[in-house]
Amino acid sequence: MALHFGESIFGIDLIKEWLCISESLFFDESTSNWDLINPVYIAALDRNNVNSAIELEKKYCDHIEEFHNSRTSKDGYGNNGYDNGKCNPKHYNPQNEGCDFGLCLFTEPNGRVAGSSISSNMHSDGFNLFISNSHDLPMHADSYGYVTIHEMFHIYQYSNLNKAASRDDLMKIVGKLGTGTNSADEVPWWIEGNAVFFGYYKYAQLVDDNEWFINKMRYPIDGSKDSLKSKYLSSGKKINDFTWNGEEKEIGYELGAWFIAYMIDIFGEESIYNFWENLEEEGSFDKAFTKYFSKEYELYMDDFDEFLRKPDSEILELLDRIY
Ligand SMILES: [Zn+2]
Repeated sequence: MALHFGESIFGIDLIKEWLCISESLFFDESTSNWDLINPVYIAALDRNNVNSAIELEKKYCDHIEEFHNSRTSKDGYGNNGYDNGKCNPKHYNPQNEGCDFGLCLFTEPNGRVAGSSISSNMHSDGFNLFISNSHDLPMHADSYGYVTIHEMFHIYQYSNLNKAASRDDLMKIVGKLGTGTNSADEVPWWIEGNAVFFGYYKYAQLVDDNEWFINKMRYPIDGSKDSLKSKYLSSGKKINDFTWNGEEKEIGYELGAWFIAYMIDIFGEESIYNFWENLEEEGSFDKAFTKYFSKEYELYMDDFDEFLRKPDSEILELLDRIY
């Protein structure tokens, strides 16, 4: 794993620490598919310093050009990140795409520093890229924990998919595409609900702070009439209909995490790992879901809404049961 520029030495230490912990949480099994996990590049960005992000894009692209370039690649996997992504100037011109700050890889078109994400496809690029945005220290040290776990969980999800596939097929099998009522929409409820939930859950367990866990999970269910839960229930839509657009994203992520908590309460934590580790063998999202959670995902949508309509105090009791 390689890294950094711009991020503080304290932030870098925290990223390293939480990476090691995430590795022992999700990648220590004999079944871990290391060919699809390593290398993980970490772009440790200072969110208040866009120039350092632009400098890091240059260093990163020099590395990608040398080591993940189809012209020189001998690897079994695609290893073509240089041509796929934004590094090769022959394939990508930032100005033409409305990007005036760097490459809009570690930056945003509006000149801000990019947020945390996994921005790569191991099969075609030949590496995983974890973009890590800094958090204020010491106040937000917890963010380094749960955000790193969240992003490593994404690497875990995709590391179970051995077969090369088109982007659409990959998005379909992980449930990002084709599980909404409008099958053309990309929807975060499952893929992000998983990562948000495990970010909170594992962080809280590791620092032994049930109260922190309850506070994080309570945020969308805070009893107010503007809570995400109220907005969600009055929307007339199901959790799998929320997209990445505008305000929808937060509902998809945070109530998606509640959907995972709801499933873990019924089927246990192992069921989620079983789902991911056998997903490819089952052949499709729908088949794997039905196998590990007893019935089709569509049938849980009303059950989940019924659960959310219970009094908040009753909903929150779930957290003590699964912690
Ligand atoms: Zn995510």
